[in-house]
Amino acid sequence: MNGSITIIGAGLAGLVLARVLHVHGIASTVYEAEASPTGRAQGGQLDIHDFNGQVALRECGLLEEFRSIVNMGGEAMRFLGSDGEVVGEIPDDGELGNPEVLRGELRRILVESLPPGTIKWGHKTVSISSGERHTVTFADGSSTETDVLVGADGAWSRVRDHLNGASPEYLGTVWVETFLHDVEVRHQRSAALVGSGAMLAMEPGRGIFGHREANDVIHTYVVLKKPLEWMRTVDFSDREQALGEVARQLGPGWAPELLELVTRGETTPVARPIWGLPLGHTWDRVPGVMLIGDAAHLTPPDGDGANWALYDGAQLALAIVDSRGDVEAAFTAFAEQMVPRSAASSIEGYQSFEQTFGYNAPANLRDMMSRAKTYGHRH
Ligand SMILES: Cc1cc2nc3c(=O)[nH]c(=O)nc-3n(C[C@H](O)[C@H](O)[C@H](O)COP(=O)(O)OP(=O)(O)OC[C@H]3O[C@@H](n4cnc5c(N)ncnc54)[C@H](O)[C@@H]3O)c2cc1C
Repeated sequence: MNGSITIIGAGLAGLVLARVLHVHGIASTVYEAEASPTGRAQGGQLDIHDFNGQVALRECGLLEEFRSIVNMGGEAMRFLGSDGEVVGEIPDDGELGNPEVLRGELRRILVESLPPGTIKWGHKTVSISSGERHTVTFADGSSTETDVLVGADGAWSRVRDHLNGASPEYLGTVWVETFLHDVEVRHQRSAALVGSGAMLAMEPGRGIFGHREANDVIHTYVVLKKPLEWMRTVDFSDREQALGEVARQLGPGWAPELLELVTRGETTPVARPIWGLPLGHTWDRVPGVMLIGDAAHLTPPDGDGANWALYDGAQLALAIVDSRGDVEAAFTAFAEQMVPRSAASSIEGYQSFEQTFGYNAPANLRDMMSRAKTYGHRH
């Protein structure tokens, strides 16, 4: 292996890969499209599971830092009908099996754990060509050459395009996101409704997720089954009008306190259409090139995508360390594990996604989440 390892994307997968390599004395360079570590809001809170995400953070040597940012109590879950009646609750058992942290905080810890200069911000990959070496060209016209290239560039991966991987398909569901701030003082009814963790109120094909996050925030998603074109019919830049329209799309019969999570939203709503790659997605192998995280196995949100991204990063780094310079052998060994593991977890992801919004919501949801607690023991 000549020179350092080139990683495209400073998301969770790419950063863990760089960090575990660094722990083992192997240099890498991470090229990231965003202009700076604070260039984009990093989304909400993530459960970091003890069987994948936490395993990766242990390999990073960052468990202490991780524990310092855990939002205690955040593991609790509450399930409601659309009438506001509680159908079930899972309390936070305090065992830190799935502790919650803000994605931005987790990313900050990982960024700060790398030697200065490892991440090249403002480097958006626009094309890749492979000859004797791989040439990566960036949006500003500059380029770099490498023997070892890892695509950790998420759902719309350029590296995957280069390998003739599949394109994500729209899965028919849009999540519309908004936030409430200072909830203990200014939104007490919403704070009581959501509790200390997550609140899910589902009907077949639509629902509201409220998530209590650090800093006195409730992060709300409205989930709607809609054609992609529907998003063009709503002006999401007009906060009040858009949130009113989104609440209307939930249909009749929703308890006023649930609707308030939406209509009182304090941030401009962001519509996130949900995309996925086919189950067991594979790609043409090109020597010296590998994919990890969403670039390899984008699945609808089931509370595990970020965890498997962390896990992939650590596992690929360890495979490279073990291979003593034979990166192609490391990539083959990693892919042999990662592809079937991702297919199995994606099957669960697609099933739970369907169950969440299926005919038997919200009862299915509670079953699904209690099974999720045992997931680690089966893998
Ligand atoms: C609405 C929603 C809610 C979710 N909730 C959860 C949850 O609660 N728990 C959970 O575990 N998972 C959750 N997920 C899934 C999770 O967000 C992803 O699985 C995870 O972020 C994948 O990490 P990654 O590092 O592979 O990709 P990403 O996080 O997408 O990181 C990719 C990085 O690559 C950069 N990049 C992209 N293109 C280029 C380019 N051309 N050149 C250079 N850089 C580039 C991006 O800027 C980004 O920094 C959710 C997903 C969605 C959509």
